[in-house]
Amino acid sequence: MRDLWRYPFLPAAHAEIEKMYPRGQLESQLEKLLDDPLYGEARALAVERLNAAVADRMESLGTPVDERDEEMYMLSYLFSRLILSAQADTKVINWVGVTEALRAERSLKGEETSTLLYVSEQLGVPVKAVGEQFQVHYTAYLTATKNLRTGKWKLVNRGVVDGKVMLDQRTLVRMLREIVVEHLQDLPELPGKLGKKVLERFSNDMENMQVMAKERQERALRELGQLDFGKAPPCFSGHLADLQEGVNLPHPARFFLTTFLTALGQEPEQIMQLYATAPDFKESVTRYQVEHITGKVSGAEYDTPSCSSLISQGVCPGGNALCREIIHPLSYYRTMAEREKPDGVKRKRLRLAAAGSGDAKLWAQLPLKAPADAPPRSLAAALRADGPSRVAVQVEYFRGKRTKIDDKYIRWASARLVDDTVARSVEALPLTQWELALPLAHARERGESVEVTLLPVKLGNQSRLHVLAVG
Ligand code: SF4
Repeated sequence: MRDLWRYPFLPAAHAEIEKMYPRGQLESQLEKLLDDPLYGEARALAVERLNAAVADRMESLGTPVDERDEEMYMLSYLFSRLILSAQADTKVINWVGVTEALRAERSLKGEETSTLLYVSEQLGVPVKAVGEQFQVHYTAYLTATKNLRTGKWKLVNRGVVDGKVMLDQRTLVRMLREIVVEHLQDLPELPGKLGKKVLERFSNDMENMQVMAKERQERALRELGQLDFGKAPPCFSGHLADLQEGVNLPHPARFFLTTFLTALGQEPEQIMQLYATAPDFKESVTRYQVEHITGKVSGAEYDTPSCSSLISQGVCPGGNALCREIIHPLSYYRTMAEREKPDGVKRKRLRLAAAGSGDAKLWAQLPLKAPADAPPRSLAAALRADGPSRVAVQVEYFRGKRTKIDDKYIRWASARLVDDTVARSVEALPLTQWELALPLAHARERGESVEVTLLPVKLGNQSRLHVLAVG
């Protein structure tokens, strides 16, 4: 095949490089190649190639002008694999895999049928041309499209005749892109000595690549706007983190992320941008899923699943203390938004949660922010102090509670704090801000002490602790 440099991941391209060496000696020569001045150009091109892929500007690479140039291109690919393997940074590997595969896809779109058949066969998926169509065995199809199992990619929507699936050229090329990504992300393990040498030689370049990968991800996240992920439940935060690490999320998890973001007012395009922060972002399949789920193409907008559905689908990673008080992830988000309420509303809700006890003046003047200069004290000393103190306490008791006001709930937590300077634990005022309550629950579960900034207050004739900050 001509133009093998366009598809350096094919076994045939590797065989071409091997021809430059006595049979079977390429692997043993790799260490030498890292120093050989003859291959300086290929090494530099490898770094350039990786930088271009991470920064998503593959078009800047240009094309080889003669046969020797083509050889350098293929060798540069080999060096780039060594660098990626030694570096072992998932983000960089995934960005490079996705961007290189997209480049290959663009080339494949312009290829003759014979080349498509050859490339497919080289990639381990034998394909037969039937008229304008391509025929592939259904098992090979299923393996190749395992990350595309929605809509038209479902086997039931394709139709299987005699164990074969028919694809048009565009679909075949798209399927090949999937195989290429997988291949590119599957890196060989380097022998210890070789790996060490690659790390030494390219350490500065690797650092640079990691910075670029981070910038690419941050750029995509920044464009998402004002959404506050700090209020999101563990099921959202965990899957978002996985997505950005390049973990291939199962469909129910993607469905949940999409419906959750839609419910928070995010437009399909903004949701696409979030998915685009993932190293393995697959534009067309993600667009299809997002537009379908958000109702942009189907007209039917799906609701965010409840906790019980998410638990049964394996999407819930196991909740925290606030999860035990809610039955829907959106209730979690809303409850966490307590901190955004105006101070007057916060004080009113605190008072309602405390069943209205205490005089009106206490609630009206209750501070809501911790001063930065609160002095450290024991709990006994803090109870005698006039102002806030920082105290390391144990959480002796913690429980989530609900107070129904009209047809709405105030979700709050009740806690008792103690240290060894007091005879008995002291009850805290209701904790309506869960970013304060959650670390207390965490400390209680682990039996750890936690630093709180608190103010002693009197409710009737009882001492209470008003928690202003935790940690
Ligand atoms: S309990 Fe509900 S909100 Fe909490 S992590 Fe599980 S699914 Fe998410």
